[in-house]
Amino acid sequence: MIRQALDELKQQIPLLDYLQAQDWHPARQLSRGRWMGLCPLHDDRDPSFLVDSSKNLFYCYGCGRGGDVIRFAELYHQLKFPQALGLLRQWHGLAPLLHEVTRFYGVQLQRHAEATAYLHQRGLRSPDVIEHMRIGYAPGGCLRGWLLQLGYSLSALRQAGLVNAIGYDTFCHRIVFPLEGNLYGRSIGRAAPHRFLPAHKGGLYDWQQVRHCPQVILVEGLFDFAVLWQAGFHNVTCSMGIHLNARQFRELRDYRGTVYVAFDSDANQSGQQASQRITSYLASLGVTARRVQLPTGHDPNSFFVQGVGDAQQFQHLLEEEARA
Ligand SMILES: [Zn+2]
Repeated sequence: MIRQALDELKQQIPLLDYLQAQDWHPARQLSRGRWMGLCPLHDDRDPSFLVDSSKNLFYCYGCGRGGDVIRFAELYHQLKFPQALGLLRQWHGLAPLLHEVTRFYGVQLQRHAEATAYLHQRGLRSPDVIEHMRIGYAPGGCLRGWLLQLGYSLSALRQAGLVNAIGYDTFCHRIVFPLEGNLYGRSIGRAAPHRFLPAHKGGLYDWQQVRHCPQVILVEGLFDFAVLWQAGFHNVTCSMGIHLNARQFRELRDYRGTVYVAFDSDANQSGQQASQRITSYLASLGVTARRVQLPTGHDPNSFFVQGVGDAQQFQHLLEEEARA
């Protein structure tokens, strides 16, 4: 019975799909269905991680570990077997649902002037950045009906955290940014500004796009990310808060370039203290990391939006840190 259920789960989640969702990319193909790439489980500099997509197995010639998708989830997320199963089940169930939700919220953004007005106020004017980040809008009160029409059950929506205990849409009057396996909602009204679904917030934002850049800029908020990206800094990533999770630390630990930490320069110093902690920690691991000193009271978003500086001046801030 148990074996059969495990086999089913493994069939539902092809190892290669799961690896790719965790930002893994094959470096080369050995033969049909067999791929080599950098090992996500140890600090690998020369591709030693073999994936056999027809057998759904992996093996690393560097750290000597191998197995199936469940074993991978155990090692990668540092979980015990039952927790790894739970995580895989959740991932498998949530991915298509969140895809549908993202599409729905994307359409709503075009229909609600208050949402585009808010984006303008936060300096997001380019359709490119909205498309790149797949930004949407949750007006509230219509997602549930739409998803039920598509055949999703109310209990699935509750479990994902999209609908609350009394059956209302959880995200209401929020700009929504899809993450990997989660959603981030920023309130445009009076509700608490930040909201995630109950799932794990995932790794660094857009990490697979930037991990090969010689320099990355790490910001704490997605509106900081958006204005920097819009200003042409496509080597930007975001930790979604000043507290990095284990996976985000691991991504930075394995990164070979220079990390510029551009957290908020707020009056209470919390952003600056956090960036100090992160840069020292990364330095202790041999990763080159620098703190970007923004004018007091500013974050990268307000730097651009309130006209403190432009792309060239932001670039100067980075270069100053590099010389320091
Ligand atoms: Zn390895």
